[in-house]
Amino acid sequence: MPSIAGLVCAAAAGIALWVIHGRLVGHWIEVHTGTVNEPGPYYGFWSGFGSDLAEFGVIGAIGTGVYQLVKKYNCHYPGCWRVGNHQAAGGQFSLCYRHHPDYQGKKPTHELIQQLHREHLERQQAIYGKLHEVHEHVTAKQAAANGTDDPARRVRPR
Ligand SMILES: [Zn+2]
Repeated sequence: MPSIAGLVCAAAAGIALWVIHGRLVGHWIEVHTGTVNEPGPYYGFWSGFGSDLAEFGVIGAIGTGVYQLVKKYNCHYPGCWRVGNHQAAGGQFSLCYRHHPDYQGKKPTHELIQQLHREHLERQQAIYGKLHEVHEHVTAKQAAANGTDDPARRVRPR
């Protein structure tokens, strides 16, 4: 599966190359076809290198965007640039398979996926069972309280 960050990086690199290449080719054609007659050093600067500054700005903006996207999607392990699409600690961390504690530094195998899925279901069931138990307990207590309720000791409803 191609990663989002990878695709974004490739797209940004493509745009950057296209902008730089387009500028160079355009300038080369202008110079060699004689359409540019640069009258002075300042005009030459602003139509030449100077006008590239805007494109550096665009590239910078794309770079910043990519950096933030990468920051958002990459593994939270310090210094790791893989895509972190595995949640750990209930979603506090997005980790890559290498740094996720459940995977022990390996890509999850079929067995591990099966095992983790089973464990997850068991946990869910345990939580549900606990809740159910608590609920039963509370209702039983209430029933018992109501059952042994002495009308004389009953708190008058407000
Ligand atoms: Zn990692």
